[in-house]
Amino acid sequence: RELYGIQRWGNGYFDINSDGEAAVLLRDGEKSVSVSLQKIIDGLRERGSAMPQLLRFRDLLDRRIEHLNESFLSAIKATKYRGNYQGVYPIKVNQQQQVIEEITDFGKKYHYGLEAGSKPELIAALAYMHDPNAFLICNGYKDTEFIDLALRATQMGLRVILVLEMPGELPAIIERSNTLGIRPELGIRFRLSTKSEGHWAESGGDRSVFGLNSSQLIDAVDLLKDAGFLDCLKLFHYHQGSQLPNIRAIREAATEAVRVFVNLAQEGAPMEILDMGGGLAVDYDGTHSNAASSCNYSLTEYASNLIEVVQHHCDAAQLPHPTLVTESGRAVVAHYSVLVFNILDVTRFSHPDCPEPPSPECHEMVHNLWDIRNRIQPNNLQVCFNDALFYRDQVRDLFRHGVINLRERSLAEKIYWHLCTQIAEQTQKLDHVPDDLQTLESNLIDFYYANFSVFQSLPDSWAIQQLFPIMPIHRLDTEPTQRAILADITCDCDGKVDRFIHRDTISTFLQVHEKLPGEEYNIAAFLVGAYQETLGDLHNLLGDPHVVSVGLEDGELTYTHEVEGDSVADVLSYVEYDPRELEKRFRSFAERAVRKGTISASQRKSIMQAYKTGLNGYTYYEDE
Ligand code: PLP
Repeated sequence: RELYGIQRWGNGYFDINSDGEAAVLLRDGEKSVSVSLQKIIDGLRERGSAMPQLLRFRDLLDRRIEHLNESFLSAIKATKYRGNYQGVYPIKVNQQQQVIEEITDFGKKYHYGLEAGSKPELIAALAYMHDPNAFLICNGYKDTEFIDLALRATQMGLRVILVLEMPGELPAIIERSNTLGIRPELGIRFRLSTKSEGHWAESGGDRSVFGLNSSQLIDAVDLLKDAGFLDCLKLFHYHQGSQLPNIRAIREAATEAVRVFVNLAQEGAPMEILDMGGGLAVDYDGTHSNAASSCNYSLTEYASNLIEVVQHHCDAAQLPHPTLVTESGRAVVAHYSVLVFNILDVTRFSHPDCPEPPSPECHEMVHNLWDIRNRIQPNNLQVCFNDALFYRDQVRDLFRHGVINLRERSLAEKIYWHLCTQIAEQTQKLDHVPDDLQTLESNLIDFYYANFSVFQSLPDSWAIQQLFPIMPIHRLDTEPTQRAILADITCDCDGKVDRFIHRDTISTFLQVHEKLPGEEYNIAAFLVGAYQETLGDLHNLLGDPHVVSVGLEDGELTYTHEVEGDSVADVLSYVEYDPRELEKRFRSFAERAVRKGTISASQRKSIMQAYKTGLNGYTYYEDE
């Protein structure tokens, strides 16, 4: 628990059970039941499903929606705030149909709505807006088609709010509203001057890409007044950036925003909704700090801070308290998905076991290397390391000049890594570890080759060095003795994960167990439900992994909403190959080989069979 920090980032949703397996805590009626992830994988394996697997937990999604809404409702009650909270889920964070369906179904009791930032998102959202009281907030650039669709939905009785992102959108909205004879519900997105912290700090501040600055805002108000549309302006919106780590910056931005909101009301607009955007962070590393992968506040604190700021400034201006909206995405869906993958192979750098001694015929330099073994003491580690490096390099030179053979060189390398392992072990007894020996430790970290693609399944880990909790899901009742970096199966040296949660710090290695021959070793990346699925790409043509929704019913595990991962034919067709044409071309090559006598006709049959099986197979490594 301590080693991987699961209790801190697991947030009551993930833990380790008494069998030493990582578990998810799911609700079954009134009961909370701990379900082993390894058991889930075993069940999928029995059903013939291959790794990697993306597990989705609808129950966790429901609980996050509940937690978000209940936190605001309790803060409203505690502060005697006289407005409501009515959040919207920003579709971009995880657009999968299952997510939108669950959010709109479960969220109905809170009138929880959706936020769409593009035409496809609007079109998807409209088909799920079955609650006429929930908001559908339209951000993003809007063409006539987008505006018309939103206006028609307003005509149908839905609460669709067109938010101005750019000054240029307003004339088009006014023109379309007049033409169709529909009064729109309007909002304005403002570019706050308050800057935030964290990776997305540039989403806020004067130079942020979206929203109107104060002079553009006043121009828009004047245009609305002149066109007789000021009574349509009801919502004020800002978005400070995603994964905001520091509550003080959130408060500061909210203060600036309410001041603008109050001023818009004083200009005569019937302002009733204050949309405070996304940014509610997830404590990925469990440190509860203002580090980029964490946050120094809880959801309860977030809700009460926003409410207090709004209440204070509206009371001061004698304005009614507005309905509060947040567009929290990450905090709602991150916990929903867990990616589980198996380890295919290991490259060991650490060599705790002593190799065979060199034979008397071996070169003197190999013997010199071997003799260092007996001299290793805490007080001469640097000297031993220097000697080991020197003799290893001498051996390499001898190999280059043809003096020794590959077998001798290989023995020398083994002895060298064994010496390094011994020296690194002894450094733990030192108060001060010399620089050279500090890097030695990191050179001894093993490579564990993992059956997944970082670019497809954890793109933010590669693109912005985002930290995700990663740990083995079984054998946790035995000590993980190895230190490893995870290398994925793309042929890209960036395809690796080398930042992990290690106790309460970030480390360059993951503590793992030795991979036992013939046994599957499974590792999971947690909190991957936000942004990762759709940002992922087809690097090396590794496609979507298999997906399954896991739940409990009367104490039994349920596997539903299974979506098979991309087949090889699927990914090839995404890059404009026609699988049938590929097969045809390959068949003609095989036939030519038969004609030349390179292969027999019956060999052609098996070769074609293998090609077809490959085309229809999973893009990841499949065992027999
Ligand atoms: N709203 C807008 C306008 C956004 O651009 C984003 C994403 O950055 C969000 C909401 C969701 O933010 P988060 O996932 O941090 O809650």
